[in-house]
Amino acid sequence: MEKFFTITSAKNPKIAVRVAAGHFASSSAHRNHYIDIFDLKSSSSVAREAARELAAPYLANTIVDVIVYMDGTEILAAYLADELLQAGYGVINEGSEIYIVTPMIRADGHFIFHQSVQEKIVNKNVVLVVASMSTGATANNVLECLSYYGCKLAGISAVFSAVPEVNGREIHALFSIADIPDYRFCVPSECEMCKEGRKLDAVFNSEGYTEL
Ligand SMILES: [Zn+2]
Repeated sequence: MEKFFTITSAKNPKIAVRVAAGHFASSSAHRNHYIDIFDLKSSSSVAREAARELAAPYLANTIVDVIVYMDGTEILAAYLADELLQAGYGVINEGSEIYIVTPMIRADGHFIFHQSVQEKIVNKNVVLVVASMSTGATANNVLECLSYYGCKLAGISAVFSAVPEVNGREIHALFSIADIPDYRFCVPSECEMCKEGRKLDAVFNSEGYTEL
């Protein structure tokens, strides 16, 4: 594993993620950078700062009833709800209630919600929070699921997104491709590093990475 470097948010230097260059594999793709967002997801102080930034696009004019979180972003989602519900001038959700839920994934790859969760989300205004997005394919599957339950998409937020939008909807990302300009990803069969015979440095999923 090559050395990590840190990228910080231009808007708030306390919001930072570690990035390593190398050859990395997830279940769906190979890529030349690994973005470590563990602190951002798990440190109460960093997550709180990040949530404040994530709340900004919704604070004044977007009704939010539900936050659907993915990839272990529940702490971030809880702080985001806290920000959206705060008392303040022009805070549209002040004093209301926000449910924080996550879908299950079925064996066939489709997302579903438990019966007990369904009644909280049907026809509600939903913000989707994801950790890291490369193609947006997973987010798109979740959006399909939300649409099935009649949810109204209020917005999509991400810690990192390589794409600016999913299904025509803008992604409000803390970090984007502009922060890691040579970020590349592809399906394993098209990976240039594999073709050059370069060994994988690590495999990763939403929980973290394992060096090989
Ligand atoms: Zn590869």
